[in-house]
Amino acid sequence: MPTAQVHKPISAEVAQFMDDVARRSPGEPEFHQAVQEVAESIIPFLETQPKYRDAKIFERMTVPDRVIMFRVVWEDRNGVPQVNIGYRVQFNNAIGPYKGGFRFHPSVTLGTLKFLGFEQVLKNSLTTLPLGGGKGGSDFDPKGKNDHEVMRFCQAFMTEMYRHIGEDVDVPAGDIGVGAREIGYLFGQYKRIVNEFTGVLTGKGMQYGGSLIRPEATGYGSVYFAKEMLATRGDSISGKTCLVSGAGNVAQYTIEKLIELGGKPITFSDSTGFIHDPEGLNKEKLQFLINLKNVRRVDVSEYTKQYPRATYYPGKRPWIIAGDLAFPSATQNEISGEDAEILVKNGCQLVSEGANMPTSLEGIDVFREARILYAPGKAANAGGVAISGLEMSQNSMRLSWTRDEVDARLQQIMSRIHHQCATYGQEDGYIDYVKGANIAGFIKVADAMLAYGLI
Ligand code: NDP
Repeated sequence: MPTAQVHKPISAEVAQFMDDVARRSPGEPEFHQAVQEVAESIIPFLETQPKYRDAKIFERMTVPDRVIMFRVVWEDRNGVPQVNIGYRVQFNNAIGPYKGGFRFHPSVTLGTLKFLGFEQVLKNSLTTLPLGGGKGGSDFDPKGKNDHEVMRFCQAFMTEMYRHIGEDVDVPAGDIGVGAREIGYLFGQYKRIVNEFTGVLTGKGMQYGGSLIRPEATGYGSVYFAKEMLATRGDSISGKTCLVSGAGNVAQYTIEKLIELGGKPITFSDSTGFIHDPEGLNKEKLQFLINLKNVRRVDVSEYTKQYPRATYYPGKRPWIIAGDLAFPSATQNEISGEDAEILVKNGCQLVSEGANMPTSLEGIDVFREARILYAPGKAANAGGVAISGLEMSQNSMRLSWTRDEVDARLQQIMSRIHHQCATYGQEDGYIDYVKGANIAGFIKVADAMLAYGLI
């Protein structure tokens, strides 16, 4: 077993590269972490690919095309002015318009959005669709706000944001804290200002240009990816005990698909703690959870009032429970090196990341060392942005595909992503999905950047 708290030694080339990144972006630890994870795959690969190395493609890819930052002023229910910061990081549009969600959470900083935008560039490339990468959001906290306050904030935010986005320029979507309600308010304000009905946002309601399966796509996609990984070992989801974290959009649809495929999801969590239901969730329990989080908007602890055989662990994460498969679906760095060691010790065979960067660099070392099936978020959770890409296509064509049609495309895309990871990640009979996803995602963007010359 490696030492959990210390990341494996890195090469002098990676260390030098990371020194430059740190110098150019001080105080952005999550961004440094995201870049380092990719640098460890890409820098050795560049040794065999001088055309990318000599043109400094990877150096260019770690600097966003541009960052937009602005003040958002809105009035709360007591008539008191509130001030937040709005951001859009337009990271790279080499292969298509910028695409990536908005996150509304008090922890949001420029560094958070740069890490998410950087990951998004490679993820979007992996989908095989023509999508560039971006990310945006605000330190606004929708928790504890009423619908009017959320609407006023969204309108104030879009009143500046509208001039930087467009259906062929930059097409945002949802992320943490931005669900159907927020997308409705944001799209309404965009439409009001610009006087155009276009596919400028994805994750829209079905009545106004949304795509079937978009809400489900990230969670379903992460389970489809797990299915593909298990198939490489002649195994399946049926009968497996599953640990899920999070209780939002991604977690809910991960649980739904796991139940459908015969898995047994026994945990979920939110920012207050986690629930362990040893009997497993079924459709009725899931519906109760959805109502809890989406309608009543309360903490997961309430679940035990309805299902007293479940246990609530305040302030803890689900990784201390034994399970066959893990689906981290809440937020970044929710699996530490120690958590990863506990998961492996308890027999976990697979980790499919619904969240973005939920595993620390030390945790990734543990999973790789143990040779379990481990899929990084940029591969496993790419289903969401892929179906957003299909929502854009449907908007442009002014038509809607059926649920079965979109679901079939989602399964096909997840299978293609798996194939790309397997192609570039083979190592002595083990698929290193981190390396595979990083190299496959990099090549397409890098080739486009080479074609454009020095810009
Ligand atoms: P939601 O806002 O719907 O749900 C987020 C969930 O994570 C909530 O249960 C929330 O708890 C919990 N959470 C958020 N922050 C923390 C924290 N700091 N510590 C512990 N728990 C936390 O977001 P999504 O489900 O959309 O997103 C979840 C993850 O999936 C994110 O990493 C996101 O970037 C990623 N993702 C989402 C996609 C999408 O299509 N929505 C696409 C690809 C990736 P609480 O309820 O208490 O706030």
